[in-house]
Amino acid sequence: MRILVVEDEEGLAESLRLGLSADGHWVEVAHDGHHGLDLALTGGPYDAVLLDLMLPGLGGHEICTRLRAHGDRTPVLMLTAKDGEHDEADGLDAGADDYLTKPFSFVVLAARLRALARRAGTPQVGVLRAGDLVLDPSGRRCRRGERDIELTARELGVLACLMRQPGRAVAKQDILDEVWDVPHAIDPNIVEVYVSSLRRKIDAPFGRRSILTVHGTGYRMAPDGG
Ligand code: CA
Repeated sequence: MRILVVEDEEGLAESLRLGLSADGHWVEVAHDGHHGLDLALTGGPYDAVLLDLMLPGLGGHEICTRLRAHGDRTPVLMLTAKDGEHDEADGLDAGADDYLTKPFSFVVLAARLRALARRAGTPQVGVLRAGDLVLDPSGRRCRRGERDIELTARELGVLACLMRQPGRAVAKQDILDEVWDVPHAIDPNIVEVYVSSLRRKIDAPFGRRSILTVHGTGYRMAPDGG
């Protein structure tokens, strides 16, 4: 995701930048309100804005109000040192999508960002095809040729992640980030377990090999379905 961080505490801003970048996001940082609003309006489009409430120049509520007044619907996660229902109601009135009270854990922040992106309707995936392998992620259906294949939600998520990028090597960590809710707490090697069970369901019974191992990286979906 492309993420704008508007935060005047430089240490926090830097750790957010590092953490989110390490997660594969593209991050831009503003340290005051005016620069933040300027970037939000002209530097994007962003997939999410992390917006501190108390900022020099222009506060988080004001930035959010102005963004919405410009018709900008970018999801906003407000960061606040205060807590209390009054502040929260103010921010939600201003058009923020969610709140996080400092201090917060990075894991929680990352999970909230993913939830925001989902709610914002990060494009719904249509039916995916690789040769005669067909996956309908929203309908939760999979088939090879005419045969329906039962997949668990997690298997379906892993397969969709690979089928969206046919022919490309996808890192285990990237699969984890996309499919698991709290990827930081989980060993990326768990992905192997799901790939093995997928191979037993979508490949072995048909004498095919669609999920290829890319040594040292992760996996690659054969564009022709194996
Ligand atoms: Ca602040």
